[in-house]
Amino acid sequence: MKLRHHKTMNAIPLVDSLQRRITYLRLSVTDRCDLRCTYCMPEAMQFLPKKDVLSLEELHQLSLAFIARGVRKIRLTGGEPLVRRDMMDLVRALGREVGNGLDELTLTTNGTQLAQYADILAASGVRRVNVSLDTRDPALFSRLTRRNRLANVLEGIEAAKAAGLHIKLNTVALKGLNEAEIPDLVAWAHGQGFDITLIEVMPLGEVEDDRVDHYLPLSAVQDAMQRRWTLRSSSHSTGGPARYFEIEETGGRLGLITPLTNNFCAGCNRLRVTATGQLYPCLGGAERVDLRAALRSSNTEVEFQAALDEAMRIKPERHHFRIEARDAQPAVPRHMSMTGG
Ligand code: SAM
Ligand code: SF4
Repeated sequence: MKLRHHKTMNAIPLVDSLQRRITYLRLSVTDRCDLRCTYCMPEAMQFLPKKDVLSLEELHQLSLAFIARGVRKIRLTGGEPLVRRDMMDLVRALGREVGNGLDELTLTTNGTQLAQYADILAASGVRRVNVSLDTRDPALFSRLTRRNRLANVLEGIEAAKAAGLHIKLNTVALKGLNEAEIPDLVAWAHGQGFDITLIEVMPLGEVEDDRVDHYLPLSAVQDAMQRRWTLRSSSHSTGGPARYFEIEETGGRLGLITPLTNNFCAGCNRLRVTATGQLYPCLGGAERVDLRAALRSSNTEVEFQAALDEAMRIKPERHHFRIEARDAQPAVPRHMSMTGG
């Protein structure tokens, strides 16, 4: 691999054909996971052979090359990023770029192993983590994730808080499952000093469950919360799909991600790279370029930069998610664990 180091380069920033400036990379470091959330993957999920997954060195080089072209924020995700064995080496290496081209290094985790790693993350320059938590009810947690690990997750959240990490919870809103609990979950999160963002379930990849049955439009959740609290629209923005509110009574921030009902694509600033180095310029599209082939080619620098330029050319104007009929195929065949959440 012969990618030139970013500090020696005067590289052209990533700007797509619609003049959207790309500053945010979501990098999946593994497709593996220790949970099996029913809306995310089947119980017998087939994971990728290790040789197909980018090495630590490849992930590091790729990240530096993105930083060289204007990426300011990297979110490590998966699968579950903390199940990858050399993950802390990557976090330490990328942590050295924070304040040095990179504004922020962060990760999205299911929290099961956060207790073990929270201190290292904080010491490496990570300031904020997103933890996915759909319920605080042990029986429902086991049903939704097919694993009995709620206690580990809550311990992980506690450890992250103690390490000084700022925590945002991500909660997928599921009709008839966690629907009734959501306001209490929001109140609990805000009581702990955490932000919380609710997400509508998206039609990504084949799963055994019927996601359409559990699709819950967040407009309904918002109505329920407005009956209980005063929600004020907030100007807070991360350049992503979330709309934010401040809740007067709890003093906390609530985000709503409504990919199926809202269009947020005009301000899109992000790219996604899978654990196998496939760059998807849109979570909801089939367009992709193969960064792994470029990284493993004999002319890495030229091929890699050409691949990034191609991604800028093909990044679609908007996604094409729809909640389909009951028996329909997923709108996008990839699981969320492939492209990263
Ligand atoms: N394993 C980590 C976690 O759970 O936080 C990181 C990867 S996970 C794919 C990222 C986020 O995607 C999680 O918050 C999860 O709830 C969400 N997610 C997975 N499948 C989804 C789907 N079909 N629709 C909406 N959100 C989904
Ligand atoms: Fe694993 Fe995250 Fe998917 Fe749940 S949502 S199965 S924790 S990758």
